[in-house]
Amino acid sequence: MNLPLTIAMPAEAAATPKSYRLLIDGKFVDARDGRTLERNSPGHGFTVSRYAQAGEADVEAAVTAAHKAFVTGPWPHMKAGERAAILLKAADLIETRLEEIARLDVLESGKPIAQARGEIGGAVDIWRYAAALARTLHGETYANLGDAMLGVVLREPIGVVSIITPWNFPFLIVSQKLPFALAAGCTAVVKPSEMTSASTFVLGDILMQAGLPDGVVNILAGLGADVGAAMVSHPLVEMVSFTGSTRVGKVTMASAANWLKKVSMELGGKNGQIVFPDADFEAAADAAVFGGFFNAGECCNAGSRLIVHEAIADDFLGAVKALTARVTVGDPLDDSTKVGAMISSEHLAKVTGYVAAAANDGSSVYSGGKQIASSAGQYLDPTILRGVTEDMAIAREEVFGPVLSVLTFGSIEEALRIANNTPYGLSAGVWSASIDTCMSVARSVRSGTVWVNTFMEGYPELPFGGYKQSGLGRELGRRAVEDYTEEKTIQFHRGQRTGWWVG
Ligand code: NAD
Repeated sequence: MNLPLTIAMPAEAAATPKSYRLLIDGKFVDARDGRTLERNSPGHGFTVSRYAQAGEADVEAAVTAAHKAFVTGPWPHMKAGERAAILLKAADLIETRLEEIARLDVLESGKPIAQARGEIGGAVDIWRYAAALARTLHGETYANLGDAMLGVVLREPIGVVSIITPWNFPFLIVSQKLPFALAAGCTAVVKPSEMTSASTFVLGDILMQAGLPDGVVNILAGLGADVGAAMVSHPLVEMVSFTGSTRVGKVTMASAANWLKKVSMELGGKNGQIVFPDADFEAAADAAVFGGFFNAGECCNAGSRLIVHEAIADDFLGAVKALTARVTVGDPLDDSTKVGAMISSEHLAKVTGYVAAAANDGSSVYSGGKQIASSAGQYLDPTILRGVTEDMAIAREEVFGPVLSVLTFGSIEEALRIANNTPYGLSAGVWSASIDTCMSVARSVRSGTVWVNTFMEGYPELPFGGYKQSGLGRELGRRAVEDYTEEKTIQFHRGQRTGWWVG
């Protein structure tokens, strides 16, 4: 790698920052108190966006609009096929604007452009999947309750949903929530991360163009502590769909509990890939690098712990190190970049602090470990730590950076103990040629997803979510729309009933 990195300034740097206004009741408007919020590009170091910064009065207006759209509007009462048609139109428009959206996510988050294009393409697929699911939501009928009774179970939209998203997959994560809420007939107030809001506003524009009625989706830019908190505690909000850190997830859930609101929580992870001696050596080594450094490790699913059998550890880690040297760290807008910039200098400092603390705790830096000098933005070398043990903070806490912690094991029991020894339970990987080994691990690991001889693949058809402190509920999968509904039981009696109680 040539150091320092030279980061070319994109055309956007020469223009004034692009401005985004809040979407409330079908109109793009300034914040009521006129405040704005700016976002600096973490990979390129210039002001890329300026958003109207919502306050509590804007939350009130947005929730009121969503509530009005739910109570009086056509959306919850439309035929599922009509709602699906709007979602499909939105998917087409996202596809048409894919490059623009991908570029915004890159400039605001520092992720590589080729990867961002894949995420937006994946989002298009999810919007289409949700559109298809809209038409499958049909409730149940019970005709086995005797001739006089017919039981009908309806699936009704739950109401106004607050959707709160993080910065690491800005467009993809809102697309794992919003289309399913809409497919169910809900209305929504959406708050993206204050660091990566631009692409969600483009989505708002797309939804208006696709024919979504006013007020069905409202979008606020703003800080979590005031806007996010007010979106959770507002009495007209029936459900909170949150993706973010476990720390904020707990705060959010505690607030929602005051009103017994339904919650869906997608939180942090500390995922392990377990590599056995009979694994496909090359594929497993490649997956170790991918799991550790994809999205600069700023990924809930990151395979941040590599749990490798001691008999192959030296050879395997040699291969992992050699592959890591081939990971191109660089300009997020360069097509060949695999690892882009870190989200912020504060976050970079937190990650390097973890590496320093791990060294203090007795592990050693096997590869990388240093900030990369660059002409703009903040970049960290993919880092491998050897000699990590289960008791170290680096083995238990979510680092959320390009840092791969290596632990070794001697038996399958030990591997499982290590894998499960964290407060999290989002995902895990196992690499072995033995069906018996793979099955044992897959059945015993306490996590919402287990990848067997593969890692970090996602499909709209497959549910995704966490065990333990990685979350509550599941997204995607065929029940994803049901999550945004209430069940209503209706009992129809034939009538002409005598001797019913005391009569
Ligand atoms: P975060 O928890 O700091 O913020 C997430 C969102 O919550 C942001 O929009 C933020 O403004 C908002 N928020 C902050 N305080 C709030 C409050 N008091 N009330 C309501 N909202 C509030 O997370 P982050 O740093 O943006 O994202 C990284 C985290 O997200 C990591 O822990 C990662 O593992 C997790 N994540 C999980 C998944 C998953 O599917 N499980 C996916 C992506 C990211």
